[in-house]
Parts: sequence; structure tokens; C-alpha cells
Amino acid sequence: MSIGTSHNIYDKLGVKRIVNAASWRTIMGGSLMPPAVIEAMAQAAQSFVDVDDLNARAGETIARLTGAEAGLVTAGSAAGMLLEAAACMAGTDPAKVNRLPDTKGMKNEIIIHRAHRVTYDRSFRGAGATLVEIGNTHSTHEWELEDAITDNTAAVAYVFGPPPGGALPLPMVVEIAHSRDVPVVVDAAAMLPPPENLTRYLDMGADMVSFSGGKGILGPQSTGVLCGRADLIQAAVANGAPNQGVGRVAKVCKEEIVGLVTALEIFVDTDHDAKNAHWSNVSENLADKIDDIPGLTGKYIQAIPELDAFESATARVFVFRDHNYSGPSESEIEALLKDGDPPIYVFSADHSNGIALSPVCLVDGDDDIIVERLKEIMSNAS
Ligand SMILES: *Cc1c(COP(=O)(O)O)cnc(C)c1O
Repeated sequence: MSIGTSHNIYDKLGVKRIVNAASWRTIMGGSLMPPAVIEAMAQAAQSFVDVDDLNARAGETIARLTGAEAGLVTAGSAAGMLLEAAACMAGTDPAKVNRLPDTKGMKNEIIIHRAHRVTYDRSFRGAGATLVEIGNTHSTHEWELEDAITDNTAAVAYVFGPPPGGALPLPMVVEIAHSRDVPVVVDAAAMLPPPENLTRYLDMGADMVSFSGGKGILGPQSTGVLCGRADLIQAAVANGAPNQGVGRVAKVCKEEIVGLVTALEIFVDTDHDAKNAHWSNVSENLADKIDDIPGLTGKYIQAIPELDAFESATARVFVFRDHNYSGPSESEIEALLKDGDPPIYVFSADHSNGIALSPVCLVDGDDDIIVERLKEIMSNAS
């Protein structure tokens, strides 16, 4: 059995394997790591090393692959956001590092677009920062950013993931922030693939960028990539594990550091066109089979090469109920899929957009399980 489908340990623990048509999500176990990553982690587990030394070497690899001055393996993109905030507020000053999350005597405001508010932005606040919102969900004006920057501004945050459109473009934010000597810190957790995004935000002038290691990079679930300006990465190190800063709660073990670096090397060497072609193929077949189920329409949506939109980076399948249909609603179908054995988790389900399925975490045979279950649900419904 391949690593992707082996689940003996979960049988032993009494935990069900799930069919993941949702994509790389923490609640579903992140990603399935390539065997070479697991092998590297097993090797890393066999010796003690100086973690500062390992962090420095891993950081050099991240710097090389992202084009940044420096890099750091974090405990996930949310941990990266905490370190971004801590680095911009406390720097490497030992007294300030020690004082966080109490920000007395420090610049402690982080400006964020209303359109960029995500549940993860509490990571900035976790370091002690106060968020200052600009704009609304649909639009933001340049003057709103200019007006929000004060002597108390530690950084401007920029979050990729929410639908683009309501926020100022990153290069414009960088221009305004830099003209006032304020750094711009980015959360791009789920923006890989496409691999172009690994270097893109730094090229646009961002000072620090945070990615998840356990999503499209296919590294350990509890890792992330932080890259950017050397002085800020040094400050992130000062505020994180193994040092005793506010980021000490988000430590990464030696096996994970090695796993992330190995996964990142594999990620940049991957033939992403071939991978996209595979996902398109899987999606097209799945959509065709779903389309044959009475009461449902299956639609294949190809990946759109729109680098800023997380939603369209890979192919998708959308399932719609027929017009004269009287069976369970989208959210009821979602619940029924989740309730079965194995549970099937979908990307999203809502009345206007149908049920969206992502191919990126499906393993061989999952498509048939999904089709059979949808058939079952639909036949019980009529
Ligand atoms: C997934 C995600 C995060 C959190 O990333 P972790 O690596 O799980 O910590 C943060 N921000 C956005 C937009 C995300 O999609």
C-alpha cells in the first residue's frame, strides 16, 4: 500500500480516514507528504543537533528558493504572522522581546484592509499588536492608508486568500508604506501553487512573506515558510523558538524543519504543469460521472491563471441540483456526505454556488467513492 492510502494506525486509534475533496486544510490533516519528506524526517530523528544552527541552514535554503535575503521555518503561516508582528514591534531589542505581548514603549499598530480581515489575523494581535482597519470590504482608497499611518504604526499587513478586489494592490501599499518607512508584512498561506507566488510578493517589495508549509508545499502540517528582509528575519528568530520570545509557543522540531526544507526543494522542482493537467483530468472525469446522476449537474471548472485569487489556482468540480429538483439542499447534501463512512469533506457548499469539490487531495479511488455516495443520497431522496 502506498503511504497515501495506508491507514492502519488510524484503524488502531479508531479514527476514520476521510475523503478530502476540500483541499489542504488544517482540520483535515493538512497535506500528504511525499515519501522523500517522511524519509528525511526519519533521518533527522536519529541525531541531536544545535537547533540554532539547523534554523540558520534551513533559512539559507528558504532564502535561495524564495529570492529573499533570509528565511525561517515557522510553525505554520499563522505562527509566521505572529513572528512578523513581533519582529516589526520589538526587533531584536532583548528588553522589548522580553516585554511582548505587552507593547509599552513600542510602535504597536498594524494596519490591515477591512477586506483582508480573516480569522487568522488574531495572530498579529497575539503578539500584542492592535489592528487598525482601513477601507471596506469592497473598496479602499489610497488616502485611507496614508491617513492611517502614524508614529505608532509598526507595519502594514497584507493578506492573500480573501477574494481580491476590496484592497489596494500590494505594489501600491508597498510604495505608500515605504515612503513613510513602514514595513509591509504578507500572509500568503494558501497561495502555493502556483510556484510563481513563492518569489512574487517579495519582488513587489513586501518586507516579509509568510506561507503555510502544510498546504500546497506538501510539507509537515505544522510548518510554514517565513522569508524577507535579513534584519526582520533576525528579529523573528529573536522572538521565536528556541529563544524565549512571544513566539516560543510556536516551536518547530528538528524533524519538521528538515521536512519543510525537503518539501520546499521538491515543490520548486515539481512539474506543476503536469500536476495541473492531472488535477484537470481528475476533475473532468469526476464532473462527467456526477453529471450522469439523475437530479445533479456536474461542471468542470478549469484553473484560471489568476495569481492573486486562491479560489481559482487549481481545477474544481461544481455540483448543481437540477431546476425541478426537490431533494436535499446543498448544505444537506454536504452534511450527508460528511456523515457517511468514509466521511467525504467538500470544498464548500452553498445555495447559489452549488457544491464545490477540489481534486488536489483526492487519492486513487476517491472519485468513485464520491460518485457512489452522491448516487445513494440522490436515490434515497426521490
Ligand atoms: C491556512 C491559512 C492560514 C494559516 O496557515 P497555517 O499554516 O495553518 O498556520 C493563514 N491565513 C490564510 C489566508 C490561510 O488560508
